[in-house]
Amino acid sequence: MVVVSIFLLFIFGLLLGSFFNVITIRYKPDDSVFMDLKTIGGRSHCISCSHQLRWFELLPLVSFFFLRGRCRNCKQKLSLQYPLVEFLTGSIFAGIPLFINYFFHFSNTVFFSFTAPWWQYVISIIWVLIFCIFLLMVIVDLKHFIIPNGLNLSLGILGLCYVAILYTVQDTLPLFYDSFIRHYAMMFSFVQNIAISHAVGFFVGGIFFVLLVLITFGRGIGIGDVKLAFALGILLGWPDILLATMLSFIIGGIISGGFVLFGKKHLKERVPFAPFFIAGVCLVVFFGHTIMRGYFSIFGL
Ligand SMILES: [Zn+2]
Repeated sequence: MVVVSIFLLFIFGLLLGSFFNVITIRYKPDDSVFMDLKTIGGRSHCISCSHQLRWFELLPLVSFFFLRGRCRNCKQKLSLQYPLVEFLTGSIFAGIPLFINYFFHFSNTVFFSFTAPWWQYVISIIWVLIFCIFLLMVIVDLKHFIIPNGLNLSLGILGLCYVAILYTVQDTLPLFYDSFIRHYAMMFSFVQNIAISHAVGFFVGGIFFVLLVLITFGRGIGIGDVKLAFALGILLGWPDILLATMLSFIIGGIISGGFVLFGKKHLKERVPFAPFFIAGVCLVVFFGHTIMRGYFSIFGL
């Protein structure tokens, strides 16, 4: 049952992933991401030669390999974005519920026989949606150097829903499990209260980025990044947002430094920040506890 459910979720993710490709490829910065369906509608065609695609050229992941990454008509190379985004969306749908069950010690067997408490499904759905938004943000920011307001707002609302659920069921969760660094969160918090820690995350995470914009006169960090920091602050709470911010600056520094060093970019060139920020968040979510344990083991703690 578990394997079948995961497989079906993966397939559903693949299909949604090809829809994400359509949205992000047709997206223009002036529109809303959830633009009117006219732009989305219409038959799919090759962007080089306008050749209308048949059903077997539209199968997620499969078609790309079957066509060896080229258009059947004009032989123009297809963007690697297609299979990559399809695969990532499939992995989000199959992998996130498994990860959430693992993190919170929920049983996969109970979960996938649909007899778990309702809120376990809500937590999984919220995190699947959050990772889909992360994926869309990274693609759009890489292409257009912009984070659509609709995505930041959706992320903030999902963050609020997540905190509300955690707050409601906190007595049934293991202690400190509202933080991805688990009991290490104790060292950074004065009070153990889910609502307070996420409110602090919102204010501290966001205001830090507001100051950053003021100090740098808006160069480097944009207003979209500030809004993202507020949204991530609610979602992650304190002190997770602190760790995510630090990691994103380390990752950003290393990667932009590498690009400058190898002459691929100039120092003053614009760099999209959302991919680094989201990479930092992913590290905290998946490895936060391990990172903290590793860090403190250096000091023999
Ligand atoms: Zn073509």
